[in-house]
Amino acid sequence: MVPARLPFELIRSPAAMRARAEDLRRDGLRICVVPTMGYLHEGHLSLLRAGRARSDVLVLTLFVNPTQFGPGEDLSTYPRDEAGDLAKARSCGVDIAFCPTPEAMYAPGHKSYVQVEDLDQPLCGASRPGHFRGVATVVTKLFNLTRPHLAVFGQKDFQQLALIRRMTEDLDIGVEILGMPTVREPDGLAMSSRNAYLSAEDRAQATCLSRGLAAAERALQSGERATEALLAAARAPIEAAAGARIDYVELRDAATLESIERVDAPAVLAMAVFFGKTRLIDNTVLDLAPVA
Ligand code: AMP
Repeated sequence: MVPARLPFELIRSPAAMRARAEDLRRDGLRICVVPTMGYLHEGHLSLLRAGRARSDVLVLTLFVNPTQFGPGEDLSTYPRDEAGDLAKARSCGVDIAFCPTPEAMYAPGHKSYVQVEDLDQPLCGASRPGHFRGVATVVTKLFNLTRPHLAVFGQKDFQQLALIRRMTEDLDIGVEILGMPTVREPDGLAMSSRNAYLSAEDRAQATCLSRGLAAAERALQSGERATEALLAAARAPIEAAAGARIDYVELRDAATLESIERVDAPAVLAMAVFFGKTRLIDNTVLDLAPVA
């Protein structure tokens, strides 16, 4: 029997969220959570639709998590639109929006953090020390509060997804993790809440990230396997964009995130590029699997 749809609920208190989730579990319902920092775009909505199709109760979390921002990063200016997010959430069939305050999530005296070793070090971990400790901690807390059977994340944040998969397995969290493909603008730019920061000129140049990924994919398809050459192909369009400053462009093993000299197994080509103060990330998995 298909359970009747629940009336939409907005929950702000972590204790109320936890109690509600316990009740839903007791009723035998399958809970899916989609954690976000809000300012929802089509990428987020694709995760919600995937979760909707695979669960009885769809929980969206909207929380700009202070512990994953470093000093001098954009915590205070991160774009927010709670009313707009709630309207989009309802249109995607969200049952519960969980929107806690930072004070409620991190009470005075908070001392506990989750660290996923090694996977938190390279790529964004090197540029943003402490970022993944904040991510792992908040995702653990959101899992404990929403008690999901399933959680959906985007491959746009490839390292985050790898780390959450590792953490969920290592700590016996018992939540199924689903990764969804990156949703892009028609010109190839990966959708991101941070795209809102870009000037018109930078927005036009920001396609250099996806053009870099495509150039490396083409090089791979024409037989190139050497990391150095694939990275050179990826960097070229970015170096040609006047407003772009490379934070990193790297090729690593897709499973372990260890550096590689050649592509012999699935590898992730990942990049972070600054336009002014705005830092954009993108990635693609380079795979040698023969095309059918
Ligand atoms: P954020 O609000 O940026 O923390 O992102 C929340 C979730 O949405 C994360 O799992 C992201 O990987 C995912 N996400 C962000 N941008 C995209 C995108 N363009 N396509 C698919 N998923 C995305």
